[in-house]
Amino acid sequence: MNSNNYKFGTKAIHTGAEPDPTTGAIMTPIYQTSTYVQESPGKNKGYGYARGKNPTREALQKNIAALENGKHCICFSSGMGATDAVMKLLRPGDEVITGDDLYGGSYRMFTKIFEPYGIKFHFIDLTDANNISKYITKNTKLIWTETPTNPTMKIVDIEACAVIAKKHNLLLAVDNTFASPYLQNPLALGANIVMHSATKYLGGHSDVVMGALVMNDEKLHEQLYFILNSCGANPGPMDSFLVMRGIKTLHIRMERHCQNGRKIAEYLKTHPKIEKVYWPGFTDHPNHAIAKKQMRDFGGMISIVLKNASLDDTFRIASSFKVFSLAESLGGVESLINHPVTMTHASIPKVEREKVGVVDNLLRLSIGIEDVEDLLEDLKQALNC
Ligand SMILES: *Cc1c(COP(=O)(O)O)cnc(C)c1O
Repeated sequence: MNSNNYKFGTKAIHTGAEPDPTTGAIMTPIYQTSTYVQESPGKNKGYGYARGKNPTREALQKNIAALENGKHCICFSSGMGATDAVMKLLRPGDEVITGDDLYGGSYRMFTKIFEPYGIKFHFIDLTDANNISKYITKNTKLIWTETPTNPTMKIVDIEACAVIAKKHNLLLAVDNTFASPYLQNPLALGANIVMHSATKYLGGHSDVVMGALVMNDEKLHEQLYFILNSCGANPGPMDSFLVMRGIKTLHIRMERHCQNGRKIAEYLKTHPKIEKVYWPGFTDHPNHAIAKKQMRDFGGMISIVLKNASLDDTFRIASSFKVFSLAESLGGVESLINHPVTMTHASIPKVEREKVGVVDNLLRLSIGIEDVEDLLEDLKQALNC
């Protein structure tokens, strides 16, 4: 079934999932094999060794490409594996312009792994795309952005970044993990590469770690596939199966994440113990208009600053939830609460993180798809602890 002309939910369920040619199995089998038998040396059925190609992974790749309206997708063993591959397109002396409010693991990789290899990163405020031009030099090769950002939910105007990237012949890569392809499609806005931590909304069930890159350009696909096959951050077939299964409900999960997210953000906004709520759906969010333009809805990620709360108070509240679980990660069916300073963003120096609002009394919520009444009740009791 060539389902690329269908709507999102139909593609999520069908694209890539061809009935198994030998049995007709409706679910793509988990091709748990490392190698493929050849008829004579070099003569095979298109599969040589499983680091390079695996049919379960290929089915998933077709599926994710379709969800992003992209030509190609390459899956990796994690989101960081996917990011690492993009950085390996660069050479010593090259420069990257990126956000000052990045996923902690991306910041750690850029500063601790790639800076020592001679790549220069400019961490700047990308919420005004005009800032970018000031940092472009003859060595600039890549703009790397996230939107919404993690954890303060800033919105970057992808289309405006793409105009600048195009003008200066730079690649624009967008980490689309927080929005998922259901809410936002960066390629359509002019990005060259979309990155996902499929661990989050795509997988959706907190049971698998995976990454993905999506792109239209043939040469870029070839280069990134060469890096995957050479460096080996390929995902296994079982993980590919799990993400593919997760994606079948992505559209209905996202609808509920967004509905619950809105109700909870509105509840928290007027709560006396809360100083600030970060959520792009509020009309007074600084880049709400851009969020509205480039996203289908506002998602289920919310960050809050507790009013007059010490680190101890914050720890006590974070540990008092009964339905929310205190854990890193996001995007699963279950609601999670995270303390960025000690968890996801612990690798960012205190001065750097405080500049962008990652303070001791900040908590990040990944709103799941439970009944919202139970989530609201849980927030109410925990905030009173
Ligand atoms: C989790 C995450 C990553 C890293 O992905 P892994 O699958 O954990 O390697 C990158 N970017 C964002 C925004 C994330 O939330």
